[in-house]
Amino acid sequence: MNSEAFARKRLVECCHMLYDRNLTVSAGGNMSVRINDREILITPSGVNKGLVREDDLVKMDMDGNVLSGGKPSIEHKFHLGIYRENPETNAVVHCHPLYCLAILTRGEDLKSTLTPEGVLLLDQVPTCRYATPGSDELVEAVMEYAHAPAMLMARHGAITQGRTLEEAYNRMEELEFQAHLQILAGNAEELPMSEIMKLREMR
Ligand SMILES: [Zn+2]
Repeated sequence: MNSEAFARKRLVECCHMLYDRNLTVSAGGNMSVRINDREILITPSGVNKGLVREDDLVKMDMDGNVLSGGKPSIEHKFHLGIYRENPETNAVVHCHPLYCLAILTRGEDLKSTLTPEGVLLLDQVPTCRYATPGSDELVEAVMEYAHAPAMLMARHGAITQGRTLEEAYNRMEELEFQAHLQILAGNAEELPMSEIMKLREMR
């Protein structure tokens, strides 16, 4: 199996896992992987992530041209922006997870410092300002935090990135876990700053 075929297989598996774990619902969210210096694979527009197949994926170049497949996700511009800003990033995951959205619609920030795993996987999680999905304004808002391993998007959802698809996926799963924990734990205290610093050095 060549590297593109392997990437297609893994990206479809990732979409199905995100859907099975309720990290995204219906046709929401979009996921991509970098397959070489010039090209990515991204999920198509309007396809349920539980049903997406390898042939549905769209190949694009870094300038946003479609090289094969149908219509790419409406959000491909911020995926490409994140890849351009982060040469080590090889996967980007964007979802609309329920507990992240509960935190966002309450107007709260996500605390990633309630447990060691939150600090190790997520670091501080910024929230980018709201802008209409698919708009250039949303790309600008996301790009302000282009280097964040994980970010929330006001009234919209979340984005994670990673050196591998598994790392980006794990960050999304951990992000939703931390959001759920924050809802359940109310005003729980964060880990002591000395411990947070120790964990940050372990990353
Ligand atoms: Zn979205």
